[in-house]
Amino acid sequence: MVQDDRFFDEIEGMPVSSRQSYYDREVRRIASYAYNHSKAMRSIFDAACIKPGDIRSVKDLEKVPVTPKGEIRRLQKEYQPFGGLLACPVGKLARIFVSPGPIYDVEGRNRSVAEAKAFYAMGFRPGDVVINAFSYHFVRAGWSMDEGLEKLGCVIIPAGVGNTELQVQVMHDLKVKGFAGTPSFLMALIQKAESMGYDFRKDFELRLAYLGAERLTPSSRRVFEEDYGISTGDSYGTAELGQLAYSCSQRAGLHVPEEVFVEIVDPATGEQMPRGELGEVVATSFDRTFPVLRVGTGDLSFFDDEPCRCGRTSNRLVKIAGRVTDSVKVRGIFVHPKEVEGLVDSMTQVSNFHMIVSRPSYRDELTVKLELSCDINEQKNVCETLQNRFQDICRIKIDTIEIVPSGTLARDNKRLTDTRNWD
Ligand SMILES: [Zn+2]
Repeated sequence: MVQDDRFFDEIEGMPVSSRQSYYDREVRRIASYAYNHSKAMRSIFDAACIKPGDIRSVKDLEKVPVTPKGEIRRLQKEYQPFGGLLACPVGKLARIFVSPGPIYDVEGRNRSVAEAKAFYAMGFRPGDVVINAFSYHFVRAGWSMDEGLEKLGCVIIPAGVGNTELQVQVMHDLKVKGFAGTPSFLMALIQKAESMGYDFRKDFELRLAYLGAERLTPSSRRVFEEDYGISTGDSYGTAELGQLAYSCSQRAGLHVPEEVFVEIVDPATGEQMPRGELGEVVATSFDRTFPVLRVGTGDLSFFDDEPCRCGRTSNRLVKIAGRVTDSVKVRGIFVHPKEVEGLVDSMTQVSNFHMIVSRPSYRDELTVKLELSCDINEQKNVCETLQNRFQDICRIKIDTIEIVPSGTLARDNKRLTDTRNWD
């Protein structure tokens, strides 16, 4: 299955020009398949007055309404057990997973190789001994990692979560090279090893980690890599759709595998955003077991247009920049607190900030309150820099910047207050 040393399969490196026709074709196929095999998808098409023949290209996907993740869950609850979304007889399934509710997620027999690609991109190779510490009980994570590792040809220790001391022992005795699991569990294992008297770097051979299900913060990545010599890869996905993107050796965003088509859309209209602009991650999986076109994840991200130096030509999500529900529209433009947080984090003179959206008359007004840690002479400069960068990134102007004494603003994660009254 492994084609060469660069990629797990050759389509990862296909020319960008071929990608467009590849996705157009796959989108046409899945639209027609979903319409003909899934009751729920057929009603979504019918309600929007569209036929599969109307979907000829990825651009045509805009005609299909976005189905928020929560709506899939609602359908599954209302029309137990699969919400009318299953496109094959139950007897053809390989696995049925159970989330609280209970909600049933399914997996077919002809599964994709997306997980294997992700492991390969992160440096895992056939023959590597890997401990899989994602949960296997009822949920998808453990199994899909297991299948990916098996497809790649790795040796799997199906550990699941817990039994820290035993996992440490096993990692030591079997000279485990790779780990798959959450960042916090990997840290727990390292700490356990140290409390058992080991020198982790010297006594263990762990060099690779596929981390997921939790955010990998830059600081914990640094600790894994610099203090313990573990090369870390991260990934992004959802329980309903599985994996949607993964990192490569270049650490320049997350590659979207060819088994899924990801759009970045305006959460208000469902239209595809211009390249490079922030919007909601909406995914269409080409899997035929549970075909849902345009699942709205509620997460915000944008595409990096620079070609990746690893040679993969797939779209790359830069990072997950927050949730759609946390953002508000100001004068018709979405303002995402997480994005502003990123901007302010890069300005060392700003120690805290809070945004207020108000509507004193018929126009939205945006005020930013700042706590500054710089000299009074520098304040004007800082405000100007903030105004310019804010406008570049958020595409609207701040109406008022107010400097407040240190300690005035709450130190919590709530970065925005919307005082507008819509009654
Ligand atoms: Zn890459």
